[in-house]
Amino acid sequence: MTARKNTARHSASFACQCGQVRGRIVDPSRDSANRVVCYCRDCQAFAHAIGRPDILDDKGGTDVVQVAPAALTITDGQDRVRSLRLSEKGLYRFYASCCGTPLGNAVGPAIPVVGVPRQAFEVEGQTADALFGPVAGAVHGQGAKGEPPPGSKGIQFWLLMRAVLKVARWRLTGQGWPHPFFSSADRKPLFPVEVLSPERRAESRRQEM
Ligand SMILES: [Zn+2]
Ligand SMILES: [Zn+2]
Repeated sequence: MTARKNTARHSASFACQCGQVRGRIVDPSRDSANRVVCYCRDCQAFAHAIGRPDILDDKGGTDVVQVAPAALTITDGQDRVRSLRLSEKGLYRFYASCCGTPLGNAVGPAIPVVGVPRQAFEVEGQTADALFGPVAGAVHGQGAKGEPPPGSKGIQFWLLMRAVLKVARWRLTGQGWPHPFFSSADRKPLFPVEVLSPERRAESRRQEM
């Protein structure tokens, strides 16, 4: 362990696969993030819709690193960033249109958390394990392909508490703003948003199978 006290804030890279969209995350650590694998069908449909089923694990899981909005900054390639919603009320799922790398999911600007699929941190030799520690658990196992991973179905109290406490702390410490994906001025998305048409949604779901 290296002591980070009394030093300048440490940060790590955040980027799309082709490198056009780039950014930074400050103070990455196990304590600053909550890492879960999500097996829900929406995450799988999204990966197919953006042409990146390769980000899914062999059971269809997306490895998501939940971080405070203010910890994440996009520094380059803003003109490549897009958002896809699977429906009018769906999560905002931001991604890099250049290469399809998912950049972060958000319910909206009012909930101070961004869920970033780990691939956006696994650049320049970085690994999510080294930055954020191991996966804390898995959720929505009923959406997994084949046998759901152990403990991934139903409500997992400790995993949920861990996430709720982190988000509450980020809210209390003002880490909801600035937000990498929403405007501080009018709270609207900073990037173009597309709502998936019912036809494309059905197509993406078929591809999941
Ligand atoms: Zn790219
Ligand atoms: Zn999901």
